[in-house]
Amino acid sequence: MNKCKRCGTCCKKGGPCLHLVDAGLITQGIIGPADLVTYRAGEPVFDPVKAAVFPLSGDMIKIKSAGDTRQCKFFDQACGCMIYANRPLECRLLKCWDTREIEEVFLKDTLARRDLLPEGAKMREIMDSYDRIFRIADVLAAIEAGVPIGPGDNFLEGIKAIVEADQLFRQRAVSLIGIGHDMLDFFFGRDVREIVQAVRGMSLEGGR
Ligand code: SF4
Ligand code: SF4
Repeated sequence: MNKCKRCGTCCKKGGPCLHLVDAGLITQGIIGPADLVTYRAGEPVFDPVKAAVFPLSGDMIKIKSAGDTRQCKFFDQACGCMIYANRPLECRLLKCWDTREIEEVFLKDTLARRDLLPEGAKMREIMDSYDRIFRIADVLAAIEAGVPIGPGDNFLEGIKAIVEADQLFRQRAVSLIGIGHDMLDFFFGRDVREIVQAVRGMSLEGGR
């Protein structure tokens, strides 16, 4: 095989990570903040080139999945890619029969949230505050070491308190600033609960 038959198998495995060259897709409104999810610095990701997991050093922005599936939200079973003419770099480079080109760009020149917001934008300040308060690397390191985080000495309660504070911050961003619910994952990244559960497999029932 040496030609894409547009079967959609790769689209069903997840959306692409965006690169600087994809910025125009957002500024032109082809892809919107509600279509995106940010993975923040400190979140562990799998590097398929090195076949290893490592923590991100900065933002990685991806197109969201559809519902509870892994499938890219722009994939339609009947029509295929709904933005095919404007698909992002990784989608243009992906050849399932030869992955060398996409491996070349993996996590290079990636797009970050701040690339999409003008200097001095109020939203930058709010994101900075969020990133300072909810440093995911610290949370995961505390879990790894089994040490309590926060003011108390109860390990699980400390994690739950951070999860609750994260939810409250997001609720306030919606009610006080007017950010759409569907844009929270772009501006603030995946929530702490989701990351902790995904990365450490911890049950945090009752934490919300
Ligand atoms: S790159 Fe491969 S898996 Fe993806 S749509 Fe084309 S043929 Fe299918
Ligand atoms: S943007 Fe289009 S080509 Fe790329 S993963 Fe999504 S559906 Fe597939």
